[in-house]
Amino acid sequence: MLNDPIALETAHGAHNYHPLPVVLTHGEGVHLIDRDGRRYLDMMSAYSAVSFGHSHPVLVRALTEQAQRLAVTSRAFHTDRLGPFLAALCGSTGMDRALPMNSGAEAVETAIKAARKWAYKVKRVPEGRAQIIVADGNFAGRTTTIVGFSSEAQYRDGFGPFAPGFVSVPFGDARALEAAITPNTAAFLVEPIQGEAGIVVPPAGYLRAVREICNRHDVLMICDEVQTGLGRTGAVLACDHEGVRPDGLTLGKALGGGLLPVSAFLARSDVMAQFTPGDHGSTFGGNPLAAAVGLAALELLERERFAERAAELGEHLMARLRALRHPAIAEVRGRGLLVGVEIDPEVATARAVCDALMHEGVLTKDTHDTVVRLAPPLVITRAQIDTAVAALERSLHRLRPAAATARAAPALAAG
Ligand SMILES: *Cc1c(COP(=O)(O)O)cnc(C)c1O
Repeated sequence: MLNDPIALETAHGAHNYHPLPVVLTHGEGVHLIDRDGRRYLDMMSAYSAVSFGHSHPVLVRALTEQAQRLAVTSRAFHTDRLGPFLAALCGSTGMDRALPMNSGAEAVETAIKAARKWAYKVKRVPEGRAQIIVADGNFAGRTTTIVGFSSEAQYRDGFGPFAPGFVSVPFGDARALEAAITPNTAAFLVEPIQGEAGIVVPPAGYLRAVREICNRHDVLMICDEVQTGLGRTGAVLACDHEGVRPDGLTLGKALGGGLLPVSAFLARSDVMAQFTPGDHGSTFGGNPLAAAVGLAALELLERERFAERAAELGEHLMARLRALRHPAIAEVRGRGLLVGVEIDPEVATARAVCDALMHEGVLTKDTHDTVVRLAPPLVITRAQIDTAVAALERSLHRLRPAAATARAAPALAAG
């Protein structure tokens, strides 16, 4: 037992996660394989970081070829990889300029710095007074500044004091945003669909309304698409569903092709122009290895039409889930292959459902106690989706076999 990987993690690691008790050793497309050779369908793609599937051969080739040539240089020098990567980023998203970082949180921190400096230098907000509006339920990472504007008590508890300059408004409520804007407002930072909050889709027209309000008040609209971006929701960007282009955009997760941490902040030229040499940086940001993999991931996204695939398969997944009509399922919501299944807390916790799913050969993770996330790699097939849905049905039945019959006949009970 002394060499057991779980025991070693427990003994030597910080307990900041509560993983399912499975030890993975291999990944292959939509599959994960544990140390006993058991295969699982991966229905969560490392929170969308593995959108292109595990060890996609094209991406692994880009990684290994580049690793053998040149991996890390810092930004003290140019490399032949960074320019093409940035050009592809701008081309795929319709943004003017891109600044490469590593983690999603760093991309968001970059967005915050850009927005504040733009507010002081261009909008003429008095020094030290710039304000950024965020949405309740936001998730943008784990730095002290970012958790400071979280509405999640646990993310904040014990980590203050926090940076000032943020106010929060209800998500999906454009009027609340407009009411919160002051002459010192620099930006509204928002996820087009909230991921960690439990796959929360705002009302139709919300992003368009936000765009219009931001225009009218000279406020930057910054979309955090670290999770929703790059095909996940059935369009390259979730903003595309409403034909909206933000002034600032953060990407991460899938941008690293499931192989590396690669993120970026993208923006309008006049916003990005606020950064001058020495203002901001990252030792690893934009390194040739990351740039080569990121570029290959963007090319793959386009060539394989993964966004269209996610749109089509997402419809199928949600239709199958709704067709279950299982009494434990309170709601099915999402867009593309970013789907949340709300579990009736009287029947089971989402964690218990995930535990049961694991025994059925399907891996995913709960979010916010009541939501089971279903966000498989975009390479998943229709048949594999059906397999996952059947496994979910069996899991729900196994958790509370009586609930199905008890709830199915409320009229009888009432009569
Ligand atoms: C995951 C996530 C982040 C943070 O990304 P990290 O790479 O974990 O720092 C930021 N924004 C959103 C919307 C995310 O889902």
